[in-house]
Amino acid sequence: MKKLVSSLLVCTIAVMMSFSSIGIVQAKQQTHEEFLQEVERKLKNAGEYVYGGQSFTVSSSSDFLNYIRSGADINDQLKKDYLNDLKDHLNKYNGKIVATFYGNENENDLGLYGAVILVLKELEVNPENFEGYNIVNTFENVDFSIASANPYYYRLAIEAANPEYKIKITDQFIEGYYTFGKGMDNFGYSCDNTSMFLTSLLTVKDNYAQYVTDAKKIILNYEKENGFIGEEMYTNYVNSDSTAYAMMAFSAIGDVNQSYRIYSLLIQNFETENSGLFGYKDNQNVSEYSTKDAAISLYYFKEFIKNGDHVYTVVSRDDATCYQDGKEIRECMICGHQETTVLKQLDHQYVTTVVNPTVNNQGYTLHKCSLCGDEYKDQFVTAMQNSAIQSVDTSDQTNILLYVSAVIISGMSIIYLLRKKSVL
Ligand SMILES: [Zn+2]
Ligand SMILES: [Zn+2]
Repeated sequence: MKKLVSSLLVCTIAVMMSFSSIGIVQAKQQTHEEFLQEVERKLKNAGEYVYGGQSFTVSSSSDFLNYIRSGADINDQLKKDYLNDLKDHLNKYNGKIVATFYGNENENDLGLYGAVILVLKELEVNPENFEGYNIVNTFENVDFSIASANPYYYRLAIEAANPEYKIKITDQFIEGYYTFGKGMDNFGYSCDNTSMFLTSLLTVKDNYAQYVTDAKKIILNYEKENGFIGEEMYTNYVNSDSTAYAMMAFSAIGDVNQSYRIYSLLIQNFETENSGLFGYKDNQNVSEYSTKDAAISLYYFKEFIKNGDHVYTVVSRDDATCYQDGKEIRECMICGHQETTVLKQLDHQYVTTVVNPTVNNQGYTLHKCSLCGDEYKDQFVTAMQNSAIQSVDTSDQTNILLYVSAVIISGMSIIYLLRKKSVL
């Protein structure tokens, strides 16, 4: 009975596993262009839901950036209002960008500089010459000894900076917030923090390869069934925001399989009936925060899938053997395109064993393939009964040993025979 139950359990698990893998494999058979348009629609809906009808100022630059990047139609009025505010701001602060946080002014906020510069680039306004101000130059000349950024906005500072300055900012970011093996610390470690960190490395990932590897591993530790959790201590349940951020991070560093896979989790488990609007814990109630985080994250995913690369997954595999080639068929999860790879026939991997002769049986060297079990024998050594000495090949150490033992055995036999004779 126990056996029956356990074998039933094994069957159930096997069925579940095969279903879940089918779930991932399931090809939608749409073109990459159609898929991209679908993602763009979701992104646009998310952006409109969160930011539609708002106007933006210097202090809300990162929101404006999110809105623009969601694909929103930015009308002239919106653009004019923002640029007027920026002009007034620069006039007031002698060309500097100054963040105000709870009444405190900070003229060394790298994140806000980054946001302003990126907004201007999106609006096709030159940040090096805006109303006579060179914002890029001011950005590069902040007092770096006291400069800082909200850890969630280093992402914008690094993206906006020129190559050398990027490195300087990234080093400061890592030193202040990253612990190898644990991730980004911003009031604790979490999936969201480390995902935001990894996304920040988008334009510098080649310079920080060991951090990319470390952060990827850490983020995947937060994955549970159907999504990602925030952190073990408090938000130990899968949620839309953590899942979206994980997708964003893998998109930013160019991991097509992971980002597509996590995108599927996000859509299946957290997107509500309204395309592009997401629920925090499930797909029932729209959450503005989750939708905002989805909008930020879907932008990175959209940018990444724009290149149209196939997202392959293995659908069948016949391993190569010692006698014939194998093949692996991979299928694109988006468009269903198949690609077959021939797996070259393998060479036998013979393991050699020397079998010593005995009094009655000859010795030999056995060669047995560890892959397929094929075997053959050679270097036969005659059984010792029939004049072991002559047949022993002394060319290697094993045989020298055999030779020596054979000599001893023969000597002993002679003594034995002599004694026998004397007894007779
Ligand atoms: Zn494809
Ligand atoms: Zn073999």
